[in-house]
Amino acid sequence: MLPFKLIYSDDYYLPIGQHVFPAEKYKRIHERLLDTQVAEPADFLTPRAASDDDILLVHGSDSVEKLKTGTLSAQEQMQLEVPFSPALVNAFWLAAGGSILAAEHALQDGVALNIGGGFHHAFPDHGEGFCMIHDVAVAIRRMQKDKRIVRAMTVDCDVHQGNGTAAIFAGVRGATEALPSVSAPTLRGAKVQGKTPGDVFTISLHQANNYPPYKPPSSIDVDLPDGIGDDDYLAWLDNALSSGLRQFEPDLICYIAGADPYKEDQLGGLALTVDGLKRRDELVFRVAKAKGIPVMVTYAGGYAFKVEDTVTIHSNTVVAAKNCFNRAR
Ligand SMILES: [Zn+2]
Repeated sequence: MLPFKLIYSDDYYLPIGQHVFPAEKYKRIHERLLDTQVAEPADFLTPRAASDDDILLVHGSDSVEKLKTGTLSAQEQMQLEVPFSPALVNAFWLAAGGSILAAEHALQDGVALNIGGGFHHAFPDHGEGFCMIHDVAVAIRRMQKDKRIVRAMTVDCDVHQGNGTAAIFAGVRGATEALPSVSAPTLRGAKVQGKTPGDVFTISLHQANNYPPYKPPSSIDVDLPDGIGDDDYLAWLDNALSSGLRQFEPDLICYIAGADPYKEDQLGGLALTVDGLKRRDELVFRVAKAKGIPVMVTYAGGYAFKVEDTVTIHSNTVVAAKNCFNRAR
C-alpha cells in the first residue's frame, strides 16, 4: 500500500467526443497503476464534486451562473475549445472536488495526487484552452478558508504557461528579485522574469512560443525556447524552485505535472523524454520533501501522438512519488 493517497473517479472523463484532449486518459492511468501494481484499489479515494461555494472562492458568480444554466455566449463557448454540456460542467466541479481532497491529504501525508485536474487556463470570469474551472486555485482558496494553510506555491510544468493561475493570484506585487545568473552555456536562450507575490507564489516553466499568446506574469516565468531537452529543462526547473523557495515559504506546493513537454507531443514544442519527465517529477518531490513542504499533484495536459505515452508519463508521476516518499523520512 502506498504511503499516500491517489484521488480518482471514473467520472473524471470529459464528455468532449473526438478531441485532441484524450479524455479517456484518466481511466487508463487508473488501470495502468493497478495493472502494474504501482498502486492497489485501497490507495484510491473517490472525490465528491466541489460545492458551488468552493467554486465561488475563485470564479465570479456571473460566470458560475452561466455555466450552471448553460447560457455561455457563442464566443465564450469557442474560447473554451471543448464542446459545452451540463455533463462537462459536472466533470469540472468533480475535478475541483478532487483537487480539494488531494490538498487535504497532501497536508496530512506529505503528498497526494489527483489523477486529474490541473486546469490552469481557467480565469475567474471565463474558461479557455480546455479549462472551465481552475481546480488548483479552488483547492488553495478552500485550504486557506479552512485555515489549513496561509501560503501556497504553484509549480506549473505543463508546456503551456499557467495564464489562469497567474491572473488569479496576481494580487499586489512589489519589487522584483532577479534570479541568480546562470552561466552554463547550455542554459542560454531562456528568459526568466520574476515578481514577488501575494499569498500564492506562482512558478511556470513553459515553451515561450506556444499558447497562450498573452502570458500574464507569474511570480516566476521561465520562457523556454523551442526544443529544450531533459538536462536543460531540469537545470531550469532546479533554478526556478531554488529561487522561488528562497523568496517564499509556502505551506503547500501545488505541482501541475503536465505531460506535454514530451518530445512526441502534438501541442508541445519541447523535447523531453519519458525518462526526463520522470526525473522532473522526482526533482519536484525531492525538493518538497527536503524542505518538509507538502505537495499536491494535478495532471493538466498531455497530447502525445500515442495516448499510451501520455498514460505512461502520468503513471510515472505516481512511481516518482512512490520512490521518493516510500523512503523513511
Ligand atoms: Zn498544456
